[in-house]
Amino acid sequence: MNILVLNCGSSSIKYQFFDMDREFTLAKGMVARIGMTGAVVSHKPFDRPEVKVSGEILDHIVATSYVISILLSTNHGVIKDKSEINAVGHRVAHGGERFTQSMLITDEVLSEIRNLIDLAPLHNPHNIRGIQACKKTLPNIPQVAVFDTAFHHQMPPSAYIYGIPYILYKKYGIRRYGFHGTSHYFVSQRAADIIGKPLDELKVITCHLGNGASLAAVDRGVSVDTSMGFTPLEGLLMGTRSGDLDPAVILHIMGREELSLHEANTLLNKHSGLIGISGVSSDMREIIDASGSGHTNAKLGLDIYCYRLRKYIGSYAAAMNGLDAVVFTAGVGENSPVVRELTCHGLEFLGADIDQERNNAAIGKEMVISRDDSRVKILAIPTNEELVIARDTKNLITNS
Ligand code: ADP
Repeated sequence: MNILVLNCGSSSIKYQFFDMDREFTLAKGMVARIGMTGAVVSHKPFDRPEVKVSGEILDHIVATSYVISILLSTNHGVIKDKSEINAVGHRVAHGGERFTQSMLITDEVLSEIRNLIDLAPLHNPHNIRGIQACKKTLPNIPQVAVFDTAFHHQMPPSAYIYGIPYILYKKYGIRRYGFHGTSHYFVSQRAADIIGKPLDELKVITCHLGNGASLAAVDRGVSVDTSMGFTPLEGLLMGTRSGDLDPAVILHIMGREELSLHEANTLLNKHSGLIGISGVSSDMREIIDASGSGHTNAKLGLDIYCYRLRKYIGSYAAAMNGLDAVVFTAGVGENSPVVRELTCHGLEFLGADIDQERNNAAIGKEMVISRDDSRVKILAIPTNEELVIARDTKNLITNS
């Protein structure tokens, strides 16, 4: 069974095409700059080098047609006929309180995802566009929605209700939801496999550190708290997002600088975090380099990033009344010994002792990076959100 996984953003579609009988990636790639000049498809078949094809890609419908054509193409393709695509799995950012698990997409489900746009105006519309595009280009092929929020649906109200009038939760659904669920789920399960104990006997903190970043406290397989909230802005310091902030700060700045809602949103989401503090970059590699060359504010950005991470790890250990493992994943978590070391330095009191040599060796691969005598295991685990989406899609279409 072959499954196409799509992750649709505002101007890009990332895709991965799996043979799910073997859980094998036949091809993967990305369509970038949709609707702009210089749109390009980067495509990597499993057995040939990556190719880049540019074209006029006006919208998500044209983009998905490009993806299908390249999967079918004589030179770069991996299948001969459209019918070899058995299903499509979509990453959908926000499932609200309605979707606590992955869903086969029907007209009713699609309209409910549409109803959630208010909660995720920056994300859900693009996901919906991708679903509609597939309905057009791959009619009659089942589609599944896998929600970024679903893994966190068992958080207790004490973790998800904000300290604002309760009526606003009832009226508008304003509460903490959390994101990156498929990643937190995948790496917590992998950690249990590597440790050799069932996940339902472990207390694990997973740190997903990509362009967006969040942690989850996974208590015996259940996410009981996570650092992103109503939107993916809350929590850790990120590449371009502020993370936690006294809410009065933004009101103050809006007044002083006469910012509109849109401008304030852009300030917090695009011009804050590492880029805002350092003025150098939102990319952790460049921050680490600049910090190493003595750039004061790059070092400050790096210090804040790791300090906040450590603070959250401490508080989640308290939330779970214990800790067995800390997992680092995604771009920064998988590849940066510097961030992992700075974060873990100060967690020794919890029984988490990082091993410097192992930490330095863990770049883009699965490894235990704590010392043998560390009570809490520290792990670096590459995430695989696409595989989780493909597995859920396979399960849903086989059992429906
Ligand atoms: P996304 O959230 O877009 O999926 P990724 O998980 O790919 O992002 O993470 C991207 C981030 O990973 C980049 O911003 C970069 O800062 C960081 N990164 C990648 N490689 C390294 C590295 N070797 N050291 C530090 N950071 C890295």
